[in-house]
Amino acid sequence: MVKINQEKSEVLCQSEGKNYQQKAYTLGEKQINRVDKLKHLGITRNVKSKVNTDERLKTGRQTIYALLGSGLHARTGMCPLVLCKIWKTYVVPRYLYGLEVQICTKADIYELEKLQRKIFRQFLSLPERTASSALYILLGAEPVETILDRNMLSLFLTISRLDNAIEKKILQWELEIGKDFTESFINRIDKILNKYSLPNPKEILENPPSKYKWKNILNKAINIYWSKIWKEECLTKSMVKCYRKYLTIQENPTENPHNIWKAARNNQNDIRKAEFKSRLITGTYMLQTTKAKFSKNQISGICELCTKAEEDIKHFLLDCESLESVRLKQMNKLLSLTELKGGGDKAIYKEEDVLQIIMDCSKLSTTSLSHLKANDLIEIEKQSQNFCHQMHKERTKCKHDDT
Ligand SMILES: [Zn+2]
Repeated sequence: MVKINQEKSEVLCQSEGKNYQQKAYTLGEKQINRVDKLKHLGITRNVKSKVNTDERLKTGRQTIYALLGSGLHARTGMCPLVLCKIWKTYVVPRYLYGLEVQICTKADIYELEKLQRKIFRQFLSLPERTASSALYILLGAEPVETILDRNMLSLFLTISRLDNAIEKKILQWELEIGKDFTESFINRIDKILNKYSLPNPKEILENPPSKYKWKNILNKAINIYWSKIWKEECLTKSMVKCYRKYLTIQENPTENPHNIWKAARNNQNDIRKAEFKSRLITGTYMLQTTKAKFSKNQISGICELCTKAEEDIKHFLLDCESLESVRLKQMNKLLSLTELKGGGDKAIYKEEDVLQIIMDCSKLSTTSLSHLKANDLIEIEKQSQNFCHQMHKERTKCKHDDT
């Protein structure tokens, strides 16, 4: 039997305007207090039935700072992939708790997403202007939007497996009254399923898939959805698109981190190199042409080392003669890794391919590097990080000597 305490009960009316209920409610003899907001099962609900985003953002920030403290800002030698795991495991469940039963507006999701992006940028030590898709591709993580979709679908699937339960009957009833109430749970579910090209709610309610089967279907659909969006973004948006074309979207990008970070072990040296590489591939490393672009061509884009050509990514990595000695040494090491083990002819690559191998060899895993295994690609990536880091050191040294 359930006992309801009069003292601890409160009434909250969520309808506004003419639907507002003036009625006084009593329990036993006693009238129950009316309130504007109340907390039930850890979720704060208010009269307007709006999500309290400020409270959520505060929870997210407080949780991550409490867990990592200064580790979030300073380089403490923790790999971003580890940090991301901490975020997903300990912060996200608190941050997004219970939102599947509330109605999140686009603006709410935008705010929640903004904080996650900010935290990810800090994990990766990348500047503000880094494209958000690049953050997700590098870390192998899901946008807030999808985490919320996932939670709602999980609730829906749980209910659809409860035969004869009142919750399932409510959903069947919502399905029957159809599209009249756009904010009904079933209509919101319908939109989500449609977005990821999944079966419609009616099909699932009638014939709910097993947990294991559903997990596979959903993960696959989510990965296909984001791969497509990110691929388009990498090709079209962003002012630094000329660099981003080198960044390869991995298979299952929302759960699979990029090769750059897979190649980094959890120590400061590796992390520093991978960080530098991330900056290079996201186009946030300050080359002379980048500076020129930002200054609206007030500053010249000509290479300050050799003064012979514009310093873009290709000039820096492949052409600049002032960096030739370091380049030769590192390049031999790098290209020797791309050869077939046990000899064979020395591979000859086009310039564009060499640049791609340095920037992100995983792109060529289906073409010129198809003879290599995933582990070999990680070795090449490690060497390419050495390459880029040595080049950067030499570039800084030359600049310093000049002045
Ligand atoms: Zn140069």
